Amino acid sequence: MKTLFINLLFVVSLNLHASFDDHFLSKTLRLDYYHLGNNLEDSYSFDELIEEPFWGGSKVNLIDTFEYGSYLFKVIDKETSEVLYSHGYSSLFQEWQTTLEAKSIYRTYSETVVFPFPKKTVVVEFYKRNKKNNWDKRFEYTVDPTNYFISKEMKIKCDTFKVNNAGDPATKLDIVIIAEGYTAAEMEKFQKDCQRFAGYLFKTSVYKKNKNNINIWGVKSISAESGTDFPGLGTWKKTIVNASFYTFDTERYLMTTDNKNIRNIAANVPYDQIYILVNTDHYGGGGIYNFYSTCASDNSNSDFIFTHEFGHAFAGLGDEYYSSETSYNDFYSLDVEPWEPNLTTLIDFGKKWKTMVDKTTPIPTPIRKEFYNKVGVFEGGGYVAKGVYRPYNDCTMKSVKFNEFCPVCSQAIQKMIDFYAK
Ligand SMILES: [Zn+2]
Repeated sequence: MKTLFINLLFVVSLNLHASFDDHFLSKTLRLDYYHLGNNLEDSYSFDELIEEPFWGGSKVNLIDTFEYGSYLFKVIDKETSEVLYSHGYSSLFQEWQTTLEAKSIYRTYSETVVFPFPKKTVVVEFYKRNKKNNWDKRFEYTVDPTNYFISKEMKIKCDTFKVNNAGDPATKLDIVIIAEGYTAAEMEKFQKDCQRFAGYLFKTSVYKKNKNNINIWGVKSISAESGTDFPGLGTWKKTIVNASFYTFDTERYLMTTDNKNIRNIAANVPYDQIYILVNTDHYGGGGIYNFYSTCASDNSNSDFIFTHEFGHAFAGLGDEYYSSETSYNDFYSLDVEPWEPNLTTLIDFGKKWKTMVDKTTPIPTPIRKEFYNKVGVFEGGGYVAKGVYRPYNDCTMKSVKFNEFCPVCSQAIQKMIDFYAK
């Protein structure tokens, strides 16, 4: 009986793998497009297709079961209409749409989706969440894999190295760390910084027990000048992906709109998540779900920034704070349930962490000492004091505290690792 069971398992896993091999080659097709609009409207415009040498994602979990993020794309077999691949994500453009500037002008951002290289013609469908949090189809593009306009250039070739080697990228979470603001002479520092940051990740409880499921790669992307831009201080540095403080005029928000260079550099290794390590000691960083994360390399709180921002970019966690100054207006609609796994408006709390709340804990939960170390529903989160609730009194997603992810955030991270490590 045991042998039969093992044989059955073997057949099932062979079949699952066969489904990847039926439809895809083990390399990446990258579709670049432009996303433009203002606070009320947006549109998509095709840019280019690029073949990249590695596929870092799972070959089993091809359909996104989380559907986190403001956007979703599906890769559909043109002949059979079967959905072969899907992936949720968010973007800097979507954040910008909630700023004051978006009320007065239009802007254009470069964005990218990547999927395993299809064997046959596929239709890529782009979806966006509407105000009720349902998906609206906004754009589609048909990809013929034999099209000779698919670029095969390796646009930025860099030396790479392994920071943590857990094994086959198909069954691991793969994080690529890109050097930003490091000159050729500083590449040794970059390598040491990568080791230090891997240390921060694996000192964090939930990642510590998953060290064997996480590959970390370093890419030696060389900048002409050391450091990064501080527009508010008049400092400008010539760097490889053009990261900058003062994104949306918030000093600590360290981001870049240079999407194409980021992707060109990341393509040097198999990856699921992009981390941009910025060579500065000034406090700052950023992270957007399935987009990228950034972190200052040498700040005294770099360990916290690194894991907090990765919480956004990797696990789709929302900010649990509400007192800091941000540039966002009405980021969360109070009449729908937010998609982030660690925030709720109590509109549809059953979909969130309700099963983790003790029957004796009141919902909403008063902010009193007796509930400090309990999962509850505490008012204040997602940049507002009223109407958005968080699961714990304090958490790495709320305060500048390293290695204090609350049980709900930890569980969300673990579920995401499991998804990639299959
Ligand atoms: Zn949390």
